[in-house]
Amino acid sequence: MISIRNLINGGLVDAISGSRGESVNPATGLVHADFPDSGAEDVDRAVGAAVEAFPTWRDRPVRERAALLRSLADLIDANTDRLARLESEDQGKTLAQATEIEIPRAAANFRYFAGAIEAFSGEMHQMDSQAINYTLRRARGVAGCISPWNLPLYLLTWKIAPALATGNTVVAKPSEVTPVTAGILGELAVEAGFPPGVLNLVHGFGGTVGQRIVEHPDVPTITFTGSTATGQAISRIAGPMFKRVSLELGGKNPVIVCEDADLDDAMDDIVRSAFANQGEICLCGSRILVHRSRLAEFMERFLPRVRGLRVGDPASAESDLGAIVSREHLEKIESYVQLAVEEGGKIACGGNRTGVLPERCRNGFFYEPTVILGLPQDCRTNQEEIFGPVVSVQGFDTHAEAVTKANDVPYGLACCIYTKDLSRAHRMAARIDAGIVWINCWMVRDLRTPFGGWKASGVGREGGKDALHFFTESTNVCLNLE
Ligand code: NDP
Repeated sequence: MISIRNLINGGLVDAISGSRGESVNPATGLVHADFPDSGAEDVDRAVGAAVEAFPTWRDRPVRERAALLRSLADLIDANTDRLARLESEDQGKTLAQATEIEIPRAAANFRYFAGAIEAFSGEMHQMDSQAINYTLRRARGVAGCISPWNLPLYLLTWKIAPALATGNTVVAKPSEVTPVTAGILGELAVEAGFPPGVLNLVHGFGGTVGQRIVEHPDVPTITFTGSTATGQAISRIAGPMFKRVSLELGGKNPVIVCEDADLDDAMDDIVRSAFANQGEICLCGSRILVHRSRLAEFMERFLPRVRGLRVGDPASAESDLGAIVSREHLEKIESYVQLAVEEGGKIACGGNRTGVLPERCRNGFFYEPTVILGLPQDCRTNQEEIFGPVVSVQGFDTHAEAVTKANDVPYGLACCIYTKDLSRAHRMAARIDAGIVWINCWMVRDLRTPFGGWKASGVGREGGKDALHFFTESTNVCLNLE
C-alpha cells in the first residue's frame, strides 16, 4: 500500500481534516494506494503559500529557475523505473507505455521549458523615428493546474513546467483516480530544492479541491485538461472572474484513409492510434474513414491486426493493451458498445470484457479492442467521446465527403490523413477543423508546436511559445523618440 501526501509550502503533509481517499489498481481491482482527501482549507493554505512565494520566484534569475527545472527532470530520469511501475499500477497502462513514452516525456517537459524560457524574447515595434514600443512579458501569479487520469504525470508536468519556467507559482491538482506519481513528484521537487510555496500539489476530488482552485480569487490563471463537461463548469466560474483559462478537452478524432494510402506503412500507426493506452488518449483516432474503393481491403488487413492485439497484465511485456482505468469507465465503454448495436452498428471484432489474464488480474477491468461497422455519421456513437478501445469504421466516396464527415462532430482536436498525394493532403489539412493534423503519421509531437483543440475540444493552446504567452501578461512600453 502506497501512501502519498500533499506538497504544501515545501512540506509533505496530510489533509487538515486527516481524511484519506483510496486509489484502485485497475489491473487487480484492489486498492493499492491512498491519498489525502483534501478540502477547501488545504487549497487555501497552498494558495497562501504560493502567493507568498511568488515575488521571489518571479524575480529569480531565469538561469536559476531553469536549473531547478532541469534538476527535477534529472530526478525523474533517475526514478524512471519506479515512476513507470507506479504509473502502470495506478492507471492500468502497460509498463512499456509508461517506461518508454510517458515518464521520459514528463522529464522532457521540464527540460524543454527550461530551455524555452532561456531562449524566450520579447517583441519590439519601431514607429519610424517617432517612438519605440517594447513588450514586457511578466508572470501572472499563482497558476492553478488541473489534470486528468489518462496520462497522469505526462499531462501534469506539461502544465507545471511552463508555469514555473515563466516565474509563476503553482497549485496543482492531479486526478484523484491516478494520484500516485504526482505524489512522488512532490517528493522529488523537495529533493530538487524548489523553494517552499513555489510548487504545491493538493490531492483530492474535483468537486472540492478542483472547484476551490478554480474559484479562489488569488488564482488568476487556470490550465485544465479533462472532459468537456468539466471544462464548461470551470468556464462558468472563471469567466465572470476574468481569469485566464486554457481548456484542453475531449476529442472524437477522425483518421482518413485515402484511396492511394500506403497501407503497408500506415497500418501500424492506425492500429496504435486507435488502441494505444486502451484508447484512453485524447488524440486517439476513434473514427476511421476509408475511401470506399479500399474499404474491403482495409478491413481484411485491419481486423486481423486488431484481433492479434493482446489484452493482458499491464506489467507483462507481452501485453499490447492493459486495463481500463476504473470500473465506472469500463461500464461507460460497455454502455457505448451496447448503444452502437442499438444504433444499427455491427461489431466486427471485440465487444467483450476479456484478456489473457493471470490469476492476480481476474478482478481487473479489461476490455477487448473493438471495431464497429455500419453506423451512420450522426448517431451518438459517432458523435460522442467514448475514450476507450472502441473505433468505428465508415466509408467515403469523395475527399469533400471525408472532410465533411471529419468535421461533422462537436469536437476538433486531431485528425490523421493517410495518402501518397501530398498536395491533396495539404488541401485537406487546410479544411479540417482541428488543432492538429498529422499527415501519414500519428502522435509525432514537437513540444514547440501549438497544442489544443477547436470547438468542444478546448480553448487556447499549450506548448511552445503559446504556453509561455499563456502564463505571462504583456505590458507594452512606448518610448517617445522625438
Ligand atoms: P474530468 O473532467 O473528469 O477530470 C479532469 C480533472 O478535473 C480531474 O483532476 C478532476 O478531478 C478535476 N475536476 C472534476 N470536477 C471538477 C470541478 N468541478 N472543478 C475543477 N476540477 C474538477 O476528466 P477525466 O479525468 O475523466 O479525463 C478524461 C478526459 O480528459 C477526456 O474527455 C479526454 O478527452 C480529456 N483529455 C483531453 C486532453 C487534451 O489535451 N485535449 C488530453 C487528455 C485527456 P477528479 O479526478 O477528482 O474528478
